[in-house]
Amino acid sequence: MAKRDYYEVLGIDRNATKDEIKKAYRKLSKKYHPDINKEPGADEKFKEITEAYEVLSDDQKRAHYDQFGHADPNQGFGGFGGGFDGADFGGFGGFEDIFNTFFGGGRRRDPNAPRQGADLQFTMTLSFEEACFGKETDIEIPREESCDTCNGTGAKPGTKPETCGHCGGTGQISMEQTTPFGRIVNKRVCHYCQGTGKQIKEKCSTCRGTGKVKKRRKIHVKIPAGIDDGQQLRVAGQGEPGINGGPPGDLYIVFHVRPHEFFERDGDDIYCEIPLTFAQAALGDEIEVPTLHGKVKLKIPAGTQTGTNFRLRGKGVPNVRGYGVGDQHIRVRVVTPTKLTERQQQLLQEFAEISGNVPQGEQEQSFFSKMKRAFKGE
Ligand SMILES: [Zn+2]
Ligand SMILES: [Zn+2]
Repeated sequence: MAKRDYYEVLGIDRNATKDEIKKAYRKLSKKYHPDINKEPGADEKFKEITEAYEVLSDDQKRAHYDQFGHADPNQGFGGFGGGFDGADFGGFGGFEDIFNTFFGGGRRRDPNAPRQGADLQFTMTLSFEEACFGKETDIEIPREESCDTCNGTGAKPGTKPETCGHCGGTGQISMEQTTPFGRIVNKRVCHYCQGTGKQIKEKCSTCRGTGKVKKRRKIHVKIPAGIDDGQQLRVAGQGEPGINGGPPGDLYIVFHVRPHEFFERDGDDIYCEIPLTFAQAALGDEIEVPTLHGKVKLKIPAGTQTGTNFRLRGKGVPNVRGYGVGDQHIRVRVVTPTKLTERQQQLLQEFAEISGNVPQGEQEQSFFSKMKRAFKGE
């Protein structure tokens, strides 16, 4: 079955604020919670609502969903670091775990289990044209990489990290507490090994025992044509290295697009304003207008009013997902001349005498005849 749009699932607008998202989720989850609602299908509905909320309440996931939707054949949704990190190899293991969760101790995690590396974020500034047409470029990302000297173990070459004697390699130390509710077993991170479960007797001198080194890594990036300000691109596998042999995190490139001095952009469409002289507007003309794709001739019909919009089809921005190209919209502004020469003043005066001081547009004539009728009726 095709997945429904997450916004539709929660019954909210695409511009909904975090608060609105939370409210919609609370309302719906109460209504369809399987403990409350025993109707068939309520269970599925509840899952759908929860999934939609998990994505839309997370800024990064929401931006990604807004950009790519459910279907994202190249990049998949499964790679998100944060979202699935907690659900890894273990899960709820009984009483102690539940208590730890309630008291903020976090879920039990085997310190030796593979974990995905952290995601990285990189901001890139593009010119207006670069965003419209895309480009290929190399960027340098400072990130942590596995130390080559010790293969990421942190131990001096020829030695091995040993199991931590204080926690027996679990990375945690249990403490029993007696409380009015009974005895509670609390687990704390082992501070001898910082939760890694290992102890390094002889540290690698390159990384001082951390197993990681800071490096600047060059990455080749293909920016798709039509990317817009605030959108981001995920480069899979270019985040921080994984832990204990886990997969690396992802790199997110967030784009900032510099404004253009002449064009404005709204989605795939371009907007601009062009001034016309009073004579061009009245008599008509053919003018050259700049577009992203070069200069284009535009016919101005005689009697064009200020504020008239013209559309140049296909002269906008290529759609970032490849769905065609937007349009360019041109709004004309008729400029009243200032600083007239004597000769110009003379000609305009003559023009005024022939025309009378009544604007000659159609709408204006009907306005004046209505006004006349109104005064007669008094
Ligand atoms: Zn090392
Ligand atoms: Zn330990």
